[in-house]
Amino acid sequence: MINEKNLITEILVPGGHGRSFEVQKGQYLQIIDVEGQQVADFYAFNSQNHQERLSPPHTRTSLRSLTIKVGDLLRSSLRNPMFEVIEDTAQSHDLLIAACDEQRYLVDYGVSDHRSCVANFEEVLQPYGISRDMFPEPFNIFQSTLIEPDGTLVQQTSPTKAGEYILMKAQMDVIGAVSACPMDLNLIGGSKISDIMVRIYDQ
Ligand SMILES: [Zn+2]
Repeated sequence: MINEKNLITEILVPGGHGRSFEVQKGQYLQIIDVEGQQVADFYAFNSQNHQERLSPPHTRTSLRSLTIKVGDLLRSSLRNPMFEVIEDTAQSHDLLIAACDEQRYLVDYGVSDHRSCVANFEEVLQPYGISRDMFPEPFNIFQSTLIEPDGTLVQQTSPTKAGEYILMKAQMDVIGAVSACPMDLNLIGGSKISDIMVRIYDQ
């Protein structure tokens, strides 16, 4: 589906840090787990209206599903299609768990001054004038959450292998951001925090 000749941007997101980027309507966004077992929290905003955000709740409602698959449309907070899932070799993503923030590490683990996805997003979205009070719920790419029959959520280690990816086609011009989640106090990211690669392709 993608042609390497059409690659226009490649951004390495260092483990534990975040990066932002722009994707135009019709372009393809590929998010790659470089070494495997690394969760990549993902936000996206309509370039023309930052109040319109990629929304897991609206996507779940539209799909009537807790998971996504090839062909699905990911919806915004205004229920418009933002991305279509084109390829997905990882097939493990979470649409339920909040992004980690300073309080997650302090309240749940007693650790202060830990890097977090929310602080990463704040850092990389600040140039666009997008502040913390505008942040949506995240798409947690490569994250694995088991839902038990009684409703219990079990956060598991990401099953993603090195080089696995999700490829999405933008349905509008967006500002995107990825955080290579710095969570190292539970097992969601395996034994170490590692890098995520973002690639953007022309159609
Ligand atoms: Zn995180």
